[in-house]
Amino acid sequence: MAAPLTDQEKRKQISIRGIVGVENVAELKKGFNRHLHFTLVKDRNVATPRDYYFALAHTVRDHLVGRWIRTQQFYYETDPKRVYYLSLEFYMGRTLQNTMINLGLQNACDEAIYQLGLDMEDLEEMEEDAGLGNGGLGRLAACFLDSMATLGLAAYGYGIRYEYGIFNQKIKNGWQVEEADDWLRHGNPWEKARPEYMLPVHFYGRVEESKEGAKWVDTQVVLAMPYDTPIPGYMNNTVNTMRLWSARAPNDFNLMDFNVGDYIQAVLDRNLAENISRVLYPNDNFFEGKELRLKQEYFVVAATLQDIIRRFKNSKKGFSGPVSFDSFPEKVAIQLNDTHPAMAIPELMRVFVDIEKLDWDTAWAITKRTFAYTNHTVLPEALERWPIGLLETLLPRHLQIIYRINQGHLDEISALFPEDMDRMRRMSLIEEDGGKRVNMAHLCIVGSHAVNGVAEIHSNIIKTDVFRDFSELEPEKFQNKTNGITPRRWLLLCNPGLAELIAEAIGEEYVKDLSQLQKLNELVDDDTFIRDVSKVKQDNKEKFSQYLEKEYMVEINPSSMFDVHVKRIHEYKRQLLNCLHIVTMYNRIRKNPKAHFVPRTVIIGGKAAPGYHMAKMIIKLITAVGEVVNKDPVVGSKLKVIYLENYRVSLAEKVIPATDLSEQISTAGTEASGTGNMKFMLNGALTIGTMDGANVEMAEEAGEENMFIFGMRVEDVAEMDAQGYDAMTYYQKIPELKQAIDQINSGFFCPKQPELFKDVTNMLFNHDRFKVFADYEDYIKCQEKVNELYQVIIIILHVPLVNDYIR
Ligand SMILES: *Cc1c(COP(=O)(O)O)cnc(C)c1O
Repeated sequence: MAAPLTDQEKRKQISIRGIVGVENVAELKKGFNRHLHFTLVKDRNVATPRDYYFALAHTVRDHLVGRWIRTQQFYYETDPKRVYYLSLEFYMGRTLQNTMINLGLQNACDEAIYQLGLDMEDLEEMEEDAGLGNGGLGRLAACFLDSMATLGLAAYGYGIRYEYGIFNQKIKNGWQVEEADDWLRHGNPWEKARPEYMLPVHFYGRVEESKEGAKWVDTQVVLAMPYDTPIPGYMNNTVNTMRLWSARAPNDFNLMDFNVGDYIQAVLDRNLAENISRVLYPNDNFFEGKELRLKQEYFVVAATLQDIIRRFKNSKKGFSGPVSFDSFPEKVAIQLNDTHPAMAIPELMRVFVDIEKLDWDTAWAITKRTFAYTNHTVLPEALERWPIGLLETLLPRHLQIIYRINQGHLDEISALFPEDMDRMRRMSLIEEDGGKRVNMAHLCIVGSHAVNGVAEIHSNIIKTDVFRDFSELEPEKFQNKTNGITPRRWLLLCNPGLAELIAEAIGEEYVKDLSQLQKLNELVDDDTFIRDVSKVKQDNKEKFSQYLEKEYMVEINPSSMFDVHVKRIHEYKRQLLNCLHIVTMYNRIRKNPKAHFVPRTVIIGGKAAPGYHMAKMIIKLITAVGEVVNKDPVVGSKLKVIYLENYRVSLAEKVIPATDLSEQISTAGTEASGTGNMKFMLNGALTIGTMDGANVEMAEEAGEENMFIFGMRVEDVAEMDAQGYDAMTYYQKIPELKQAIDQINSGFFCPKQPELFKDVTNMLFNHDRFKVFADYEDYIKCQEKVNELYQVIIIILHVPLVNDYIR
């Protein structure tokens, strides 16, 4: 009989990190050394940490290739329905660890790297984030790709291979400074260029009418070169594809006859065409009607539809006669991630009608059955409304098609609601007031068979408010699909300690089926389990503290409550409300320094869109408040304020597992879903939040008694809008609010420039669309309840609580 297993061996057996076979490890080491030698052309004497990262990445990649080819071969042979997720953003983050996890290679790789005398985390830190997204919308696309591969769906992500992703944020003197994200500088081991599948995309030109129909002629051509990235499912041998397009100038670009003699200038001008895929627009929830952005949107759409149609026709090979598109919607589902790829609707119509010669009504019926549209926001400043003039120049044929779609659409409305001119005006695809514009959300609703919001409350708001007329016309179109996150990245990868504990308690099935976490309810009174869970949290907090100390030379008290508010900086997300809480805590400590205080570290992070003045002022205000609070000897280590620089996917993976309290405090009715909220809850943080977005479902699932809910509900906000919101009354009524605002307004946090925050306070008093003052009092009270509970937890768990922490 074999010797009983040691604890270590037991853990390995149930581990979700994969099997460590001797041959397995030997094979990985061999692959690593081979890539270091042949791919990177280095030996161990001259190799840098980055070389080691690339050697490991290539070794892991080798394990994807066979599965990738076999998966695509399988799709070709079985011809399942394909789902195409069209998105201007895929916020992927890093790929190495995720690939090892999904292939079950993590433990074996850990062992191999250890035996090679290297440190796995050091290597992982060498990988650049693929930051091809702004925030939640882009990260959702990335999470969906992981989930669809794990479900074994024949899914494809289609987008743009931006040469520069979301900018890197530096905080200098308390201000945000942007730096270019040159993420491809050292090469990308996860992508495969496919120049052989390059496709033309046309711009500008004019429309020629003839008896054969409309023809778009005299266009300028830009080539779209695909780069494929493998998307492995979790432990299922599926590997799907994310195909990102890169813009290339044709080789004869600008070298037409009239240009002979200016060869050099013609070559230099190739940049103009290739600028299309140069850089991600850094706006979150904001529409900036720039021509280059419209070019990006059409570029991805035109290249992708050619690819989709080629694949559809290819699957019909062997049938005689012209291809029928009748079965197109049975084989092709195209999901539009917000209106950003909305031009896909007129583009598919153009291909069907002008090129494939389908009649209009047939083409339109197929198009509608193919597309579905996900709405991501109700904020008016975020809704895409492209000026007619821009479309007319850049995409003249598409504008004609949009007009014709609109004609049919308005005919239907007038048949149902005769004489209702106001309804026609409201529902038109073309807005007439203040310069003609195409309302892209209206185009998407009309051109799709399904429209969804991203949380119950948001789906209700779009039905009853923003798109009310449309849901009256076609109520069956409107659905809800509450957002989600992949538990592979947001638990297994970022919090292995907690993932392992849960696996020991309820088995590993939860990794593919989170409803299994219900089983943990039976362990609420299991002292050992509770203690183990809090130990994991404490370890994560220590590790994150060490990271901050190493990278930023800031010292934090790891026994204080980590109160974390990380997301894009936006007025509607109300970082200012959090800031007022910080100032209030500060004033309370100063007023009564001897009183007991539950020590807190408030961590705020996020990027402001470079052109969003108020968001940049909010960052400056938080850092200014932090300066004063952190230096005040009266405060000591009771309260610290950290501005977390350059919040991004890889930093989310570090901070979220270390969080005690998650801040989800948007004005009710403004955050469509939120996904950050879910990541924190999955990692065992408590949530303080409003009844907004998916917080509502989270409260329902966890029990409202297990969440710190405060503030106005949507109905309250609506009533206040009807009555008129008056910030001044709150200011006059609530002394602590008055004190905090007076300090900010008078330069208390910025004595050298006492006027600095006048724009902020003026906004809060006179045009605060998000009603910060109205929720202040309830927020502060709710934070006091958080303190009470945290106090109890600490006493029960005997976590050492140090009020004056000195390292
Ligand atoms: C999840 C995520 C977001 C979205 O966070 P919200 O709180 O839902 O706005 C933004 N940025 C990053 C890096 C994320 O991982």
